[in-house]
Amino acid sequence: MNANAKSLRSLSDLTKAGLVHADKRATLEAVAARYASAVTPAMAALIDHDDPNDPIARQFIPDPAELKHRLGETSDPIGDFAHSPVEGIVHRYPDRVLLKLTHLCAVYCRFCFRREMIGPRAHALNIAALNAALAYIAAHPEIWEVVLTGGDPLVLSPRRLKDVISRLAEIAHLAVIRVHTRVPVADPARITPAMVRALKGRGKATYVVLHANHPRELTPAARAACARLVDAGIPMLSQSVLLRGVNDDPATLGELMRAFVACRIKPYYLHHADLAPGTSHLRTTIEHGQELMRALRGRLSGLCQPAYVLDIPGGHGKSPIGPNYLATRSPGRYRVTDFNGIDHCYPPPK
Ligand code: SF4
Repeated sequence: MNANAKSLRSLSDLTKAGLVHADKRATLEAVAARYASAVTPAMAALIDHDDPNDPIARQFIPDPAELKHRLGETSDPIGDFAHSPVEGIVHRYPDRVLLKLTHLCAVYCRFCFRREMIGPRAHALNIAALNAALAYIAAHPEIWEVVLTGGDPLVLSPRRLKDVISRLAEIAHLAVIRVHTRVPVADPARITPAMVRALKGRGKATYVVLHANHPRELTPAARAACARLVDAGIPMLSQSVLLRGVNDDPATLGELMRAFVACRIKPYYLHHADLAPGTSHLRTTIEHGQELMRALRGRLSGLCQPAYVLDIPGGHGKSPIGPNYLATRSPGRYRVTDFNGIDHCYPPPK
């Protein structure tokens, strides 16, 4: 990979790189006018140009299907606005808030649940709004954890992140700072020693949650970037989105979860894809997601099991939607299903 290569941001860039066919370009102008695009050199290098269904391309290359909006799809599928007391803050659960530091990302995922709110044309959080957001956190002692999100907070400079994290570290009632990011896979070179230092808030536990959806994303450079974080004492968790044609088969999903664990990243969430506009071609059914979870449970170590979750539209929060292994037969008596699908009584009959 050319170290000086730039991200591909326009249809013209993508066409020149052979990632968009010239005959699709006219249709894609309408997609590009509505949703941001960016593919980093690290992600572009992973795309197999001979595979029309390449799972990396499906995540980042604009598709005419994005113009088809289905019933139920909405610009705010997880209800951020309904729970935003001040700009930049989402306070959905009692003990934690999201702090949306930036509207920019290293890559723009075609299935993004905030696709109508992010990108270079979106409204940015200015200094006054950031001060008000930090004042809100300081004024609410019930807030135990802050989740830095966006956009992707790791597109900010280490200096800017350090400033925000240092200010958060001064808030006594805050115990945990969690950072949601795709940067360690999308642009691993950004995880420099200065960035790692910036993430560590004095006296607070910092967690980094990596968003990755296909095992190929965990390249040697991405693994090294994650190792820099973990070696510095920053625990890592993963989140992935279940995506049709990307990771919706047991082999790929299993390989992804094992790759996380091998990188010392504990699988955390497998998200059912949200009802973001123009994303139905990438969504699976919930039944299919449950089948995949059953397959993981049977085949892979307990370390490799994420929670399959749905963000309930309207801002009602996440609920686990994985398969149920337990049924009540009578008070105090249950039927429990093992990983081979065989039912057993609990407690066992005499
Ligand atoms: S990195 Fe996250 S916020 Fe950015 S486009 Fe992808 S899903 Fe959306």
